[in-house]
Amino acid sequence: MDNKFQELQVRLSEIHDLNSAAAVLGWDQATYMPPGGAPARGRQMATLGRIAQEKFIDPAIGRLLDDLRSYEESLPDDHDDAALIRVARREYERATKIPPALIGEFSEHQAMAYDAWTRARPANDFASVRPLLEKTLDFSRQLADCFPGYEHIADPLIDFADYGMKAASVRVLFAELREELVPIVRAITEQPVADDSCLKQHYPEDKQLAFGQDIIKKFGYDFNRGRQDKTHHPFMTSFSLGDVRITTRVKENDLGEALFSTTHEAGHALYEQGIDMKFEGSLLAAGTSAGVHESQSRTWENLVSRSRPFWEHFYPDLQATFPEQLGKVELDSFYRAINKVQKSLIRTDADEVTYNLHVMIRFDLELQMLEGTLAVKDLPEAWHARYQSDLGLTAPSDVDGCLQDVHWYGGWIGGSFQGYTIGNILSALFFSHAEKAHPEIKAEIAKGEFGTLHNWLRTNVYRSGNKFTAPELIERVTGGPLRIEPYINYLRAKYGELYQL
Ligand code: ZN
Repeated sequence: MDNKFQELQVRLSEIHDLNSAAAVLGWDQATYMPPGGAPARGRQMATLGRIAQEKFIDPAIGRLLDDLRSYEESLPDDHDDAALIRVARREYERATKIPPALIGEFSEHQAMAYDAWTRARPANDFASVRPLLEKTLDFSRQLADCFPGYEHIADPLIDFADYGMKAASVRVLFAELREELVPIVRAITEQPVADDSCLKQHYPEDKQLAFGQDIIKKFGYDFNRGRQDKTHHPFMTSFSLGDVRITTRVKENDLGEALFSTTHEAGHALYEQGIDMKFEGSLLAAGTSAGVHESQSRTWENLVSRSRPFWEHFYPDLQATFPEQLGKVELDSFYRAINKVQKSLIRTDADEVTYNLHVMIRFDLELQMLEGTLAVKDLPEAWHARYQSDLGLTAPSDVDGCLQDVHWYGGWIGGSFQGYTIGNILSALFFSHAEKAHPEIKAEIAKGEFGTLHNWLRTNVYRSGNKFTAPELIERVTGGPLRIEPYINYLRAKYGELYQL
């Protein structure tokens, strides 16, 4: 049995190497590659992806997994080997159910749809991408149909990002959240909008970058096992547990942009850097779901670096870094500015209170398109109608409407948005348990110390990587299922104080 298990490990680690090499090419493409490299780079990444896929769906892997079933069953559920076999089987079964032709046709189509979107968006030309989006919807339905027996057609797509969640369970969760959230949003937005002009002055790029890097070093982000570069869209990418990189975007006329994208991506990276080194090169050396990943970016971005204790410590440093801009701005005004709440049209600019409403709109529209109750041709109108009813706003065009997010134009329709809100909910749930175990966490943050929080997260959430599914992990850490109360309590406490609610 030992030999078979070793053979499985060797095969999986070769596939991991191919995928990691493709990720390096992708990182290079987004950071330093000259434009002339684009055509070959697309092909190179596709080649690596195809070889990795072929190696993974090799029937020899299926035979190994069959042969290892008795070994797996002889082990306790939480044994590392059992977890690896279980995850490998889940992904193998998933991969082998999808015909390679569907993947091939879709990736060709996806490249075209993405390219068309990059031109349609600035031109406010939904009509030009509509036929492509209709095809994407068709592909997405075909993908779902590779997994017959689902309750809702979106379930297989949700499974890819947030394994263990279903359309029905997300709907229940979102309905509960909406009921609590809407009155909070209403109460806040009845008041004057916070003044954030102090953030919109000129802030030199080099000082912004240095300040952000200094903060994430204190969080525990290890620059010996990572680095930060600039990209158009910030992201985190991992090539191995010893090389977890982040990117940021700097705006010299907006202090919040680089600062909070840096702490956000550092949160994703702390998760990956915190995975137990014994999982290096295996399927377990990854975050367990989109929602759990996002919970960690949100923890470090919002719960930590948009909190009052954090700035009680760091604001004098920030003022010393930017004396002309912030020397005369009180801590209180700065704190209000970075936590400004305003109903808006653009998801990526939304504050932490209204953000979830943007996600819910997209989640519902995705489901309706997959169900066939919303035709792609009616998407722009449906989008505007939802923004009117949920946020009381009408976008002047589709640029600020259904053309704003890349997700449907660069991927499948279904499963791509729920992880953001699951992450918000989960960030507060985990944080509340960390504080229960260590009530001194906030006092430490007010001293610029993050060791206790980081250690708790590493021990309880990060270390196990992809060993447990998200529902299993949440159960193990919190003793129950995902629930919204800690998140609502967090929002009520923070914004209740800010807006005297
Ligand atoms: Zn994120």
